Amino acid sequence: MTLPDAEAWAVAQGWPRFRGEQVWRWVHDRGARSFDEMSNLSRETRAELPERAQLGCLQVAEVQTSQDGTRKLRLVTRDGQSIESVLIPDGDKTTQCISSQVGCAVDCQFCATAKMGLKRNLDAGEIVDQVYLAQRLLAEVEPTRRISNLVYMGMGEPLHNYDNMVKSIRILTHDKGAGLGQRRITVSTAGLVPKLEKLGKEDVRPNLAVSLNAPNDAIRDEIMPINRKWNIGKLLAALKAYPLEQRRRITFEYVLLAGVNDQLEHAMQLSKLLRGVKCKVNIIPWNPHPEAPYQRPARAVIDAFQAECKRLGMPTYLRTPRGDDIDAACGQLANRSNGEAIVPLRIRKTAPPLPAVD
Ligand code: SAH
Repeated sequence: MTLPDAEAWAVAQGWPRFRGEQVWRWVHDRGARSFDEMSNLSRETRAELPERAQLGCLQVAEVQTSQDGTRKLRLVTRDGQSIESVLIPDGDKTTQCISSQVGCAVDCQFCATAKMGLKRNLDAGEIVDQVYLAQRLLAEVEPTRRISNLVYMGMGEPLHNYDNMVKSIRILTHDKGAGLGQRRITVSTAGLVPKLEKLGKEDVRPNLAVSLNAPNDAIRDEIMPINRKWNIGKLLAALKAYPLEQRRRITFEYVLLAGVNDQLEHAMQLSKLLRGVKCKVNIIPWNPHPEAPYQRPARAVIDAFQAECKRLGMPTYLRTPRGDDIDAACGQLANRSNGEAIVPLRIRKTAPPLPAVD
């Protein structure tokens, strides 16, 4: 529920409106996972609440820790579906990569999640609960860390689950709730053009990342079949019209696949495409998984591609794979466990407050 939903719900229960806000704050600001924790409510109200509402919709099934400190959480929904969420420490920052769907319908040829097909959308509660559970886990294992950034780059295509994605951002950024800063949230999409146009008109303003992954339609048609519906021309036209706020840029993700899109001429084509777009390029060397017929380019090829992109004037960053030893890196999320580092989770009863970050 959003805050207005919770207030309307309280009124429908025959309760005063403010009780909706009280309960909502316990959930979204204080991270409560049981009605018993809500100490400013009367005993009678606390006793009645479980008959009228359900709290928390995910459970932690498994936590795997990578050698580089990345943690992958396998979370289970009420109807028994598994999803994954990844916590990536980086200096003082901690980025959480969250899922928006169980599986994915987009069918990118290089991605492990695509092989699952789409099982269903996550609802807004299941999206935000990933953050609250991860926050509790962090408080338990590394009390000095806080989730500072959020990326919708886990399982699923967020723009295929548009309404719940927008609602989840509205909840997570509310200053009476978790209060995450809009600038610390990034939504990544394979490029659903009509939904991009819609997102540009919303009052929520996350950062935008676009999985371009190819410098021309021939290659993109092959590795991302969605390009046959909305090709690069249509995608870039929508992005050029996208109302970017001051000092913001669109991030283009570019998965580097050996022998497919990693040649210097591809960097040249890319630079022509992106001319006039306020953007940066994130190169992601392909992360291996069993089902795909691709390879990661050799280090020298990766470096040469990046150098060429920079020489052509594109701000270009190389993303070092994080958590690839536990299948937690980009494109590896497919509910697999790997290795022995599975830690059953102990979660303490009282939640730490979620920090307001900007
Ligand atoms: N569906 C959204 C969100 C997923 S983001 C999107 O497409 O943007 C996941 C990112 O990982 C995308 O940029 C995708 O191109 C990239 N990716 C997928 N499989 C990968 C792999 N095996 N190795 C490296 N990056 C991959």
